[in-house]
Amino acid sequence: MKIYAGIDMGGTNLKFGLVNDRGEVLFAHSSPTPPDLHQLLEEIKHIWKILKEKATQPILSIGFGLPGIFNRRSKMIHRSPNYPELNGVPLEPLFSQLVEVPFTIHNDANMAAFGEFCVGAGQGLKSMILLTIGTGVGSGIILEGRLWEGVNGFAGELGHVIVNPEGDPCKCGSRGCLETEVSSEKIVRTYQLFSGSTESLTSEEVYRRAKSGDKAAKKAFHQAGYYLGIGLASAINLLDPEKIILGGGVMKAGDLLLQPTLQELKKRSYLLPYSQCRLESALLGNQAGFIGAALWASAHFHRPK
Ligand SMILES: [Zn+2]
Repeated sequence: MKIYAGIDMGGTNLKFGLVNDRGEVLFAHSSPTPPDLHQLLEEIKHIWKILKEKATQPILSIGFGLPGIFNRRSKMIHRSPNYPELNGVPLEPLFSQLVEVPFTIHNDANMAAFGEFCVGAGQGLKSMILLTIGTGVGSGIILEGRLWEGVNGFAGELGHVIVNPEGDPCKCGSRGCLETEVSSEKIVRTYQLFSGSTESLTSEEVYRRAKSGDKAAKKAFHQAGYYLGIGLASAINLLDPEKIILGGGVMKAGDLLLQPTLQELKKRSYLLPYSQCRLESALLGNQAGFIGAALWASAHFHRPK
């Protein structure tokens, strides 16, 4: 058995663990994401120590999934709206001081997509899109059996495809991106707008209200589903994938969100790719990122290309 490590850095938590060469999780844990870069590097050092203690034999490589767009040419995070401390920092020399095995760095959503592709809902496919909807929208694309990175590593940002040209400003600098229209925060804001409520609440609470018949809450999910359908229709017409895998907290709303999504998707995509593309739930949950990062590094260093 070979052992690989992965760390998935989120805005709130660092999820990390060990997998074997079949992608089975041998160890998984998480810790809060420190607020600044110095503390983050210290925490990674600490996590690496834990991972080595937990491994029954030497770890062969480690993969990092980071929030933000990783420029694979300059080897730096180009822009991280959720963790700006990473912007423009030369991470390779810093990480090489922390871990003594080969490592890779990539975008967190791409790593989650790679994880689902290798050992989750995308196993055995040639093409798929992973979309995770929560406080933000992350996505990654697999085409012809490999992660589609784009020339610079920026590809797969379905969250920043524009679905509403006059929509809210997005952290990326554009407006009306899929992310701004379907995120949990937007669902809350839409609910407040429709209901006239000024109380602070979560999207889970909006969901509970929708389930108990609150019309404004239902409308908020309907609107998010409408824009999600538009975004997915563009993705299907552009890529004709075998599967779209949906994950993230907002997907727990189930049919409340999916019904309007499918309605819009059907209206706006070509019939053949629409009818053959399966929409399914992600399988790896919040472990997808570190599993994918671990397998990405292992594929990079230890498998024939
Ligand atoms: Zn955007």
